[in-house]
Amino acid sequence: MVDLIVSGLGGNLDSYCLKDSYSDDNWRTGKIQLRCTQIGVNLHSKARYIDRGLSRNLPFGYAGLCETNFRGDLFYVSIVRDGIGSFELDVFNHGHEEGHALFVLGHMNDLYNEALRLGLKVPFFEKDAINSDLAVRRFLEGNGKFDFEFALRMKDLLFNETIANVGGLIALVKFSNDKELIQSVNSQIMKFKPLPDLE
Ligand SMILES: [Zn+2]
Repeated sequence: MVDLIVSGLGGNLDSYCLKDSYSDDNWRTGKIQLRCTQIGVNLHSKARYIDRGLSRNLPFGYAGLCETNFRGDLFYVSIVRDGIGSFELDVFNHGHEEGHALFVLGHMNDLYNEALRLGLKVPFFEKDAINSDLAVRRFLEGNGKFDFEFALRMKDLLFNETIANVGGLIALVKFSNDKELIQSVNSQIMKFKPLPDLE
């Protein structure tokens, strides 16, 4: 998923977030904690995750990337973001990519529950989160074969970006004191209308 640059100058997130020295050979397995949403999850045995942190080499127009790849019978998910924003924007963008990662790794329910725990309003229901996570599980256990429900969710750009924005919002709550900004981002997220159920 490709995200467009918003705006802003300066700021360096990496002095604030949990430090970690990921490299290309250091794919994470098992129990992990994401850096900015600080959500802990237990990865599926076929899932591999890496947070490549800050990159100055993203193609023009990209504020972050969450890349997925099925190789052999393993599912690789990596995130990276640009550092072009204000502190708040960098935190938001990083949390946003973690939101994408949580969704494709089958941990939308953990994202949903963390939002609720923090008292945030989210435009999804528990069943959306659980159904998404079950669809990912079928995808992982079917060695990368999409079923229809998963395909619909993956291809709905607005659904994906809204889930990711919930990740960004959670990261803001954890790292920023700007209550007005948090409120305004949350209101924007609530404009999303959830997907209807598949009949
Ligand atoms: Zn996105």
